[in-house]
Amino acid sequence: MNLIERLSHGSVICAEGYLFEFERRGYLQAGAFVPEVVLEHPVLVEGLHREFVHAGSDVVEAFTYYAHREKLRVIGREDDLERINRQALEIAKKVARETGTMVAGNICNTGVFTPGDAAAAKEARAQFDEQLQWAVDAGVDYVIGETYSYGAEALLAVAAMKETRLPTVVTLAIHAVDATREGWDVAETCRKLADAGADVVGLNCARGPRTMLPLLEKIVAAIEVPVAALPVPYRTTPQEPNFQSLTDPDCGCLPRERPFPTALDPFTCNRFEIADFADKASALGVRYLGVCCGAGPHHVRAMAEALGRKPPASRYSEDMSKHYVLGSHPSFRKENLEYRRKLQNL
Ligand SMILES: [Zn+2]
Repeated sequence: MNLIERLSHGSVICAEGYLFEFERRGYLQAGAFVPEVVLEHPVLVEGLHREFVHAGSDVVEAFTYYAHREKLRVIGREDDLERINRQALEIAKKVARETGTMVAGNICNTGVFTPGDAAAAKEARAQFDEQLQWAVDAGVDYVIGETYSYGAEALLAVAAMKETRLPTVVTLAIHAVDATREGWDVAETCRKLADAGADVVGLNCARGPRTMLPLLEKIVAAIEVPVAALPVPYRTTPQEPNFQSLTDPDCGCLPRERPFPTALDPFTCNRFEIADFADKASALGVRYLGVCCGAGPHHVRAMAEALGRKPPASRYSEDMSKHYVLGSHPSFRKENLEYRRKLQNL
């Protein structure tokens, strides 16, 4: 079944957020955020893909996010552009083939697009086209264009993706204001993207579950195509709606005025919050789900289980009845079970 058929039967989970995970592990640099790990440690990328599939992802998304010409230029590795893309696609394809999952190509915001600048649009389109050609060459099942804060750049990406004739997913990253960067209404922009031929339209990144949900409700009401929702797993609030705007006034040691991107740890959603998001988004009618920057396999498993799935990792889903103090197994010592109140300071 292809992506569209899958979505007509139920939900699809697409794990992502590889950049933050490899930054934490020490294999790529915050700031530049270029997936150099694809070239230097391909085995680790393959391993993370496998962990996300084990946790319930239906898709292996090639790790080509920010592996575009502009980003490679910033770190002085433009010569590696084709190699990093082809390698990322090969790794994703290998895992998808071995696990029976779908493989997706990926393009994203270019960093050069500026509304009204024809030369910049041409440059952005050229970046899309070269990455998409490598994805087509690799034989991906569908293509994803993501993290567009300009509606017009997302439309440009859809036009490029449509040329591949593959199913197309496009998602916007909405920051502190409930509008695209050029000021377009979010639901209206999603309608334009659907009208332009995108098969799945929605939001990824920037917003946490709490501040993404109200936008999703409007998007579901505005479009007929399946809606995508891949929030960041951070506790954003109406006052600080995107993870770039979160503040941590009690921490006196931040190197910058905001915790983004490397001091967001205290805001991380637990797995139950992600399960709750999956429940609520599904109830709204969202069918394409995932978790973006900051996601771990435990988040993906929680999402899968909330959708009624039992991925391989569910074998190890918690059973606190087996805990020697907090549990209930008949063999447990009375002294330990009675220690519960002291352990938890009840
Ligand atoms: Zn993200």
